[in-house]
Amino acid sequence: MTISLKTLSYIDGKWTEPSLGGYFEVINPANNSVISSVANCGSQDAVTAIRAASKAFQFWSKTPAEQRAEYLYRWYKLILQHQHELADLMTRECGKPLSESLSEVVYGASFLQWFSEEARRIKGDIIQSPNADKRFLVNKQAVGVCAAITPWNFPLAMIARKCAPALAAGCTIVVKPAEATPLTALAMADLAEQAGIPAGVFNVLPASEGQEIGEVFSTHPLVRKLSFTGSTAVGKILLKQAADTVKRISMELGGNAPFIVFDDADIDKAVEGAISSKYRNAGQTCICANRFLVQEDIYDKFIAAFSEKVKSIRVGDGLQPGIQQGPLINNKAVQKVDALVRDAIAKGADLICGGKVHELGGNFYTPTIIGNVDKSMAIAHEEIFGPVSPIFRFTDEREAIAMANDTPYGLAAYFYSQKMDRIWRVSEALEYGMIGINEGIISTTLAPFGGVKQSGIGREGGHYGIKEYLDIKYLCLGGLT
Ligand code: NAP
Repeated sequence: MTISLKTLSYIDGKWTEPSLGGYFEVINPANNSVISSVANCGSQDAVTAIRAASKAFQFWSKTPAEQRAEYLYRWYKLILQHQHELADLMTRECGKPLSESLSEVVYGASFLQWFSEEARRIKGDIIQSPNADKRFLVNKQAVGVCAAITPWNFPLAMIARKCAPALAAGCTIVVKPAEATPLTALAMADLAEQAGIPAGVFNVLPASEGQEIGEVFSTHPLVRKLSFTGSTAVGKILLKQAADTVKRISMELGGNAPFIVFDDADIDKAVEGAISSKYRNAGQTCICANRFLVQEDIYDKFIAAFSEKVKSIRVGDGLQPGIQQGPLINNKAVQKVDALVRDAIAKGADLICGGKVHELGGNFYTPTIIGNVDKSMAIAHEEIFGPVSPIFRFTDEREAIAMANDTPYGLAAYFYSQKMDRIWRVSEALEYGMIGINEGIISTTLAPFGGVKQSGIGREGGHYGIKEYLDIKYLCLGGLT
């Protein structure tokens, strides 16, 4: 079977017209053309989907783990089978180069494979009892109906990273993808249907206004767990809204990742790591290096090697062969990135390369480096979400750590050093949930992904990921003789 372009919502196993009948356009950021019009769901559709998920929870939570695993594995295989079609669709929706889209499809699918395996490893405990007539047991049970809200920058992987552990645990789920990228989410629903995943277990509600559905998700009493990936600002709104019904929460929020290059680093490896951490997805990932902190005595050497590579990045429509950087998601993003660069230059930063809208125009921005950046500039504090590397100087390790931690965020951090004592000291001192040490690419299905401070609550991936979808139930068995 092939996948066809789906444009309706997927509720209770049916492709469904929006209750208010509206549609919104999905735009290709490479040329601003309309790819398709998609059902615009509202609060009534959200309630219908939550009720369907609640009904499905009754049987899905009781379906043996082995069978849930088989459904997930079939879904995984179908995604791999259709990886090229999915990657093509993803590049059209969000602009990333085709090779990156393909990597995302494979990465996203791997969560379905991993959690299909984890489904069978949900285990309880028996605690040694001090009383002859009592036994203490701990059971793990599915949390219930889950709601997920996901961003546009990883249209498939962010959905898979939530839905795979949820379904493996026995939960059912309702997903609202980002306005910019509903088509990949609906293609996933198409493949879930082909995999035979029962009606109501996995539901997708595209919408142009996240707020309305977000309010239902975070306040509806049938929703027992809300999992959000997106900006810290929206995460805070959802946390407040979810307080009244005291929901289980996972928050994967924004970052301000430091990338520290110490004077004992292998500079070539640091440059390689810097390129992959910063310019992947045109700088639009939550774990992209956001601030480069470079030790004074290697500052010029690092910039010379780094800028040579950055200037050679090939920019264009991600569907064309050899393109390494696609467009930003929309014109608003271009304006924001450009304003951050202008502000820094006006306050004394050096422009090393780029620093302007790309000659292709539209949503393309030139790969940029600015030097001598300091705390007075907005770029030191904001998530850039664009292909811009601001470089700060530091003199010693203590100053680097203080600068790195001087932010309310705590998602990812990176540093390059070859000294083992420094590697331990710095990795323990950095207030971040994930640290790349002599490595610029850290995402993997096998490890816990998530942040501290205002970057989030909870972890996705690895054996930690399924815990977010399980409740612990203590059983006290008495009266034994
Ligand atoms: P965003 O504006 O926060 O949007 C994320 C999702 O929330 C979208 O589906 C959006 O819908 C929805 N939304 C917006 N306002 C809402 C509201 N008031 N109530 C409920 N839902 C609402 O973030 P984004 O621009 O899509 O994504 C970029 C952000 O995500 C960055 O901050 C990045 O760091 C973060 N991110 C974090 C991780 C992680 O794992 N920590 C991973 C990827 C991205 P609409 O699209 O309709 O606005």
